Amino acid sequence: MILPIIKYGHPVLRQRGKRIEAVTPEIRALADSMLETMRASAGVGLAAQQVGQPLLLMVLDVRDSERPSSLQIKDTEVDIAAHMPMVLINPVLNEPTGKEVGYEGCLSFPAISADIYRAESIHVSAMNLEGKPLTFRCTGLLARVIQHENDHLHGVLFVDRMDSATKVSLGGALKRLQKETQADLPPTRKRGGRGLLTSRQT
Ligand code: ZN
Repeated sequence: MILPIIKYGHPVLRQRGKRIEAVTPEIRALADSMLETMRASAGVGLAAQQVGQPLLLMVLDVRDSERPSSLQIKDTEVDIAAHMPMVLINPVLNEPTGKEVGYEGCLSFPAISADIYRAESIHVSAMNLEGKPLTFRCTGLLARVIQHENDHLHGVLFVDRMDSATKVSLGGALKRLQKETQADLPPTRKRGGRGLLTSRQT
């Protein structure tokens, strides 16, 4: 099922994800829907917060990108396509090495992109959709996507990692998006409720 993607300005994007203790049918269904949603939007990664679920769960698929990636399992280079799509549950990122700048977009920030610094290479430990442990090292786009999605799982957004000049230049667009998102929230989700907003406007 294709799910609506939560946009910048919605409070769920700032929530830290809850640990998933077991891969239940509900978690499987959510991961499937997230994969479908990501594909429908031509994305390379999606975090559970982006479909309104504050859980430690991300999906990704970098096989169609022209940007290079590498994946090593037990110190052996493996074929990335054979391991895509990937569902990572309760991921833990370790041993970041190097630093590189790269272009990033985010499905929660339509039409907004920026250069972001990330570690070149990371080690990842997670659980897969079969409930089995999964550990690997990766570089390139794959490492970048996992770092971007892992930020979402902890309520961190790519705007938080933009340099101040970029943030200033995108300021108007970010404010507009935030306002649009908040205008669509039900009154109870708005800070202060609709009454306060109305009285401020008038
Ligand atoms: Zn994102």
